[in-house]
Formats: sequence, structure tokens, C-alpha cells
Amino acid sequence: MYVLASDISPMNTRNALRLRTVRAYDIQERKPSPVLKPKEVVFHDQQGTFLHAHIPKEFVEKFRSTFTEGKVYGVKNFVVITNFYSFKTSPHKFMIKFNYQTVVKQLKDVIGRVVEIHAPQEKVINGKNARLIDFVIEDSDGIQLGCTVWDDHVNKVEVYYNSATEEPLLVLIQFCRARTCLKSGDIKICSSYDVTQLLFNQQTPEFMQFRESLCLEQTPMRSIVSQSSFNPGSSYTVSLKEDLQLRTLTVVYAKKEFGEFWVAARIVFIDCDGEWYYPSCRTKSCYKKLEPKKEFLYCKECDRTWGDGILRYRIKIRVVDIKGNAPFVMWDRECTELLGLSALDLKQKNSQGKDGVPAEIQALSYMPHS
Ligand SMILES: [Zn+2]
Repeated sequence: MYVLASDISPMNTRNALRLRTVRAYDIQERKPSPVLKPKEVVFHDQQGTFLHAHIPKEFVEKFRSTFTEGKVYGVKNFVVITNFYSFKTSPHKFMIKFNYQTVVKQLKDVIGRVVEIHAPQEKVINGKNARLIDFVIEDSDGIQLGCTVWDDHVNKVEVYYNSATEEPLLVLIQFCRARTCLKSGDIKICSSYDVTQLLFNQQTPEFMQFRESLCLEQTPMRSIVSQSSFNPGSSYTVSLKEDLQLRTLTVVYAKKEFGEFWVAARIVFIDCDGEWYYPSCRTKSCYKKLEPKKEFLYCKECDRTWGDGILRYRIKIRVVDIKGNAPFVMWDRECTELLGLSALDLKQKNSQGKDGVPAEIQALSYMPHS
């Protein structure tokens, strides 16, 4: 569901934002690195709230040419963190950070003549009842585009289904998403939650221009009873017990004490900057990270050289509690306990999952809403 930039909070990890890009720029790092540099994007939403987005360097490639200044995007699966930059592009308390799950869709406007309307349908998607209606629009060159709109948008189209409407029926779909059908490779237009707007037969310049471009002979509009080609796919959630409590993150930060504390927090995402394991020393009960030394690995603690080390987990996570958010590091033992993985699995898991992150670790960031 789309929310306003002013309403984001670190607790909500399933919100989406509709944002216009104001500025997108690369960061020049002090150490010269020609390949990987983080990217920063400044957005504003419909209320004019400015929001800063940080794209860590390992995800820059994915979003390199995504953002055009002035264009509108739907952004979801981001993490909300404290706006910690000393140079602030936005006075917002929070900023957003991209990760390997972040999805960005450019929201577009499409105009066309409705040539087919299918019967509205009910579907159960992720355990919820959803309604949808399929229709087909055509441009003045006869090129057709399938459209599916959901829930509240269904009523707006349904009134024209099986009704003797004066033709042509023109529709302007604002802030919709274009998605590619996996089966056929065709492009399809979909509504995007409540942000999409459907306007029929208006007297605005866009409609007048389109009407003028239409030739006189047109295929008449049809109403069709059939099944939707939409496939919701599968989804799953992982639950985790949260029965411990003691210090809040805010208190940990405020007191600046060293020590061991329990924090009841929710993992909102895995902050792996590509490194989620390390080679450790093979000496019993020495867990030190081995440093590369020529073609071997070296333990400073034991002053020993090894051919290879024991692989151990070191996973940076982002956690959120009632008021605070913080990066945590989970070491090998926590990872194996929490994920049920053994060091033996590590080598095998190495090549699995998206962006080198094992599936089990990715599953962690699919926490249920609470
Ligand atoms: Zn050692």
C-alpha cells in the first residue's frame, strides 16, 4: 500500500512510496574506486515532502539508469533508517536505504480506446479476497495493450461492462505500472494500489488530441466472459518468537555503556555489503579472521599461516524496535542458531540465493507484519 513520505517508519517494511525524482547523483569516495560508488537520490512525494534515498554501492549497478529526474516512481521493499547524514538534502527524520529486495517501478500514464472488457473476477491472493477486471485498450495505430485493475478500481471499469456506452470509450490511466507477462513476453498495464487514477471520456487536451487521432472505422467494443491471465505467484512468511525484552535501542544509544544487553527488535533486512562470511583461524577456540598474506591466509593472534580457513558467518542486519533502529552484527553462533545452518552448509550455500546471499538469510527479511 502506498503511504506518504511523512508517514514512513522503520517498523513498516511493507509500505510503498510514490515519489518524484528531484535529483539523482553518484557519491565520490575519498579513496579512488573507479567501479563501485554509492548513489544518492532525492525524492519528493505528492505533499512536497522531501525524502533522501541511499543506494549502497553493491546495488548501484541494478539501479544505475533507473532514475530520471522529474519522473515518478513506485518504490517498495526499502528500509527506513535515521537520516544520519550531516549534509541533509531533506529535513525528514528518516531516509530510505535500498537493498537487494528493493523494487522500483516507473509509474506511467497511458491513454487508449477501450476495445474489450472482461467480466470482473474475485481471487484469493495471499489469503485476502481481491477483485480484478481485465480490459484491452488500443491506440490510434491499432496497437493493443492488456490492462488489469484491482479492487477499488474495478467499479470504475465495471460500469462499462455489458453496457451500451456511446463509443468511443477513451481511458486515461495515470500512475499505472507496466509489467511483462512471463508466459508471452507481452507488456501489460496494471493498477498500482490506490495511486492509480482512471479517467474516462474527459474533455482535457490529452483526450481531445487522442480522439482526433482516431480513424473513423473502429472495431466495436466487446464485453467478454473469461478468466484472467493473471497469476499471483506464491508467497511465504517466516515467523520468529519475540519473547525477550529489556533495553530499547534508544536507551542503548543514549547511555553509551559497554556491556551485554537484550534488545527485543525486529530484523527488517540483511545489510550484507556482499560480505556475509569470513575465513577464520583453524586453531581450536581461535575465531580470528584470517588476513590474506601472499597466496595464504594468516592469523595475527596465533602468528600462523593457513592454506584456507574455516568459514564463519558474519552477517550485518538492520533491526528496529519501538523507537529506534540500528545495525547489528550476527556472528557465526547466532547465525547457526537462528538459521539452523552449520559451518558445513556455508560452503554449499555460498552460491545460492540472490546476489550471493543464501536463501535462509534472505528468508529472515521476510518477517511478518506485526
Ligand atoms: Zn588464530
